[in-house]
This record gives sequence, structure tokens and C-alpha cells, in this order.
Amino acid sequence: MIIVVLNEDKYAYDIHSLVKAFYPQQEVKVFVEGTKELRSDPGLPAFFVLFEKEAIRVKAWQEAESQEKTEPEADREQKDGRQLLWEEQIFLSCPQDRIAVKNELKRLLYKMLSELTQKELPWGALTGIRPVKMAMQLLEQGQTEEQIRRFMRENYLVSEQKAALSTEIARRERRILSDIHYENGYSLYVGIPFCPTTCLYCSFTSFPISAWKKRVSEYLDALETELDFVRETFSHKILDSVYIGGGTPTTLEPEELDRLLSAICGKLNLTDTLEFTVEAGRADSITREKLKVLKKHGVSRISVNPQTMNQRTLDLIGRRHTVEQVREAFLLAREEGFDNINMDLILGLPGEGIEEVSHTMEQVRALGPDNLTVHSLAIKRASRLSQWILENGQADLNNTDATMALAEKTARGMGMSPYYLYRQKNMSGNFENVGYAAPGKAGIYNILIMEEKEDIVALGAGVISKRVCPDGRIERCDSVKEVAQYIERIGEMIERKRVLFRD
Ligand code: SF4
Repeated sequence: MIIVVLNEDKYAYDIHSLVKAFYPQQEVKVFVEGTKELRSDPGLPAFFVLFEKEAIRVKAWQEAESQEKTEPEADREQKDGRQLLWEEQIFLSCPQDRIAVKNELKRLLYKMLSELTQKELPWGALTGIRPVKMAMQLLEQGQTEEQIRRFMRENYLVSEQKAALSTEIARRERRILSDIHYENGYSLYVGIPFCPTTCLYCSFTSFPISAWKKRVSEYLDALETELDFVRETFSHKILDSVYIGGGTPTTLEPEELDRLLSAICGKLNLTDTLEFTVEAGRADSITREKLKVLKKHGVSRISVNPQTMNQRTLDLIGRRHTVEQVREAFLLAREEGFDNINMDLILGLPGEGIEEVSHTMEQVRALGPDNLTVHSLAIKRASRLSQWILENGQADLNNTDATMALAEKTARGMGMSPYYLYRQKNMSGNFENVGYAAPGKAGIYNILIMEEKEDIVALGAGVISKRVCPDGRIERCDSVKEVAQYIERIGEMIERKRVLFRD
């Protein structure tokens, strides 16, 4: 464990994110001096951030093997023989400006962490999950791409390559969004929280379909009640996009899918809807009959997600389907007329290096999807992967510049361009997730949710609705994750949304 001690309770979240990015394999605790008595593990550094009136001082020291834990940090370090590794003080350019102070602090921390670990991070001191949103806002303010790249490099120490990627995507998103009247629009998300099995890395709301088969109809009843609420509340708005995700929506039987899609199409006005996505996801859930149902109801975009095309890895991560099933599902979807198919991949899966990723890319290229979404493995506390790491360590989980570059080269080689990007906490290699798409095939819902341009009303268990307020603030409300609770408390779930979207 690594500790960070603050003399005031400020910027703890950002400090934690940055230290964790440099020490991904360590637990990091940030606390205010005097509130806890923790120490970093022997051999690891401990950090001290001192906020003064017009300055910030940062120190790093190496913990001694044994020490008293009762004295204030500043006094203790003089006495217990621990070794001072690094120290620097900066004077703040604008002490009253919270954002400016935060950025100066993060640059100082980055400098220290980078020198101590001899590492550079591709995204520098930027810890937010939406770097493209920043580039987009600057574009909207009239800045040139060169100015934006410079701003990202100088203020956040972002690498040249990531700054260029962010601005390229912002430019593309802006062009796509210019055709959407999102000021008077909304999007619908429907969560189906069932899967054939639970994948090793999964942190989504997902339950084995085998345990819930008998209650799917009750779940659909609850969704239909929510759809009635959407019809009443959003009748004056244009439904821009529909996204059915999860979980794995295609775990539903064909007649259940038919019922759900009939309810959406029957209760809502889809006349002007630009995109209707169903995440078919797992190859072991896709059948011709289900694809026909999707097609019948006008679904325009689906995902067939291999994550990897290496059977050994698929077995290890608990997907319980074969590489061959992925191929068959993809070709079946093509036969049924789907001309916008996405494939999700994950880089950094256990045991996968450049050779394995290269094999996956070759296989994907041969199939020729229209979208490719490349994720860096994110280690979530709620996933089985956390337990797996405790037992097996992290040495086998590697995402590198080389694998990221190979994925990008493959996508661009298939005629695709990057069109959306987001980051998560605890991502392998501190990289990002990038969606690539062929011309005219970009996932509009993905852009709308990333750029937070319009309301997203989300139905189902374990989902989050978002409201974009007139002043640009984002308000959210969630629903309970437990399926039984969701069904029983459906009135309360709707009431939460009614409050969120009240005029
Ligand atoms: S298919 Fe997706 S939602 Fe389902 S268990 Fe795997 S990662 Fe989780």
C-alpha cells in the first residue's frame, strides 16, 4: 500500500487517480493528516501534500522499516530515519482559482511521480474519463486544432500522440453532431442484465440467464411500465437513438426480444430515430431467429463481440464460446442483412502480448466489421479479475504502446477512423478505449453519451439516466441493480426519473 497524506481535505480524488496511475499494482490511500494512522509498505514511497496560502509543497519519502505512528507527519519525518526522496514547492499563479490550483498541483505531482518511477503516462496528468470533451469545448470556442493540442500538452502534459488523437476525434464528432438536433432530442437506453455466463473482467450489472429465465416476463413487464413513462414525458422530443445493452440482450428468447422491441416501437415515435443498436454481444447467444426479430423491428446496428480471437484466452476469461462461434455469428448477421456490425476487443487480457493481439487483428480483418471498439483492460474491484490477480499476480496483464498501435493500424487499414474515446480508472497501461468506424457507420449513441449532449433516459436494473441541464450541468439518477428489487420497486424507479426530468 502507498499512502498520501494531505494537510487539508482538497483534490483527494485527483491525487488518488494520479498516484494510482503510476502505481497500478498498489493500493493507494489518500487521507488528511491526523485522521488515520497508516503507512506505506516498506520499500514503497509515501507522499505528503502541504497546501499553503499561496503555495503547494510536495514531498516523497521512503518509509523506514519501523516507526512511531502517532506524531504529526511533518514532525515524524525528522525523527524516524526515513529517507527523503523528493521535495519541491511551487508558488501558485492564481490561488483563488480552484481549477488552476488543481492543475498546478497535478503537474507538480506528475513531475515527482515521473521522476521517481522513471515513467511517462500517455495522458499525462489528465485524470478525467472524457479527454475529447475538453478538445470539443475548445473547438466550439473557436480554437484551432494546433492550439488545442498545445493546450493539452502544456496544461496536462498529454503526449503529442494522444493530443492529436483527441483533436482528430473531436473534429469528427463535431461534424457528426452537426446533423443532429440534440437540443430537442433524447436517447433511450434499455438494460438487459442477463448473460450466458459471467466474464472474468466483468463489472457490469449482469446475472446468469439460467437463474432468471422464469422471471424474464416480469422484467419485461417492468420495462413496459417504464416505457409508458417515457412516452408521456418525452412526447415533445425527438428520439435520436436507441441502445439496448446490458448484459447481453440476445440472451432473451426470440419471442421475448419480439415483445420488447414491439413495445419500444409501439409506444415511442421512432420516425426520426437515426440509430437503433442492439448489443448482441456474446456469440453463444446469437441465432438466426433472433437476428430476424431484430431486423424486423428496424434494428440498424449490432455488436458481435469476440474480445479476443484466441481460444485459450476466451476459455480463461469465461466466455464459454469458441472463436468459430464468433465467425459464424458474424457471418449469420451479414446474411440477415446487417450492414453495421461492431466488434469489441480488449487489449491486455491475461497472457496476451503482441503475438496474440496480432492473431486477433488478422481474424477480425478477415471478417471485416464496420466498427471496431478497442478497449484496454480495466481492472474493476467488483470483477472476478480482482480475485484472479490476487491469486496469479498482474505480470500476465500487459497492454503496451505496440499493441495499441497495432489495433489502430488494423482499424485504419480497414478504412476506419477513430470517432469516440473514453478512459476508465485502472486501465491496463493507462491507455484508453477507442471506437473506430467506417465512413457513415459511427455509433451515434456512443458520441451522444460521451459528449453529454442530450438527455439519456435509461430503463432497467442497474442503469443510470442523465439529464443535460440548460446550464450544461449533468444530473443523474440510477436504478437498483438487483433484478428482483427492480421489479418490485418499479414505481420508485419511475419516480426517480420523473424527478430527474421534471421541467
Ligand atoms: S458479456 Fe459483457 S455484460 Fe455479460 S458477463 Fe461478459 S462482460 Fe459482463
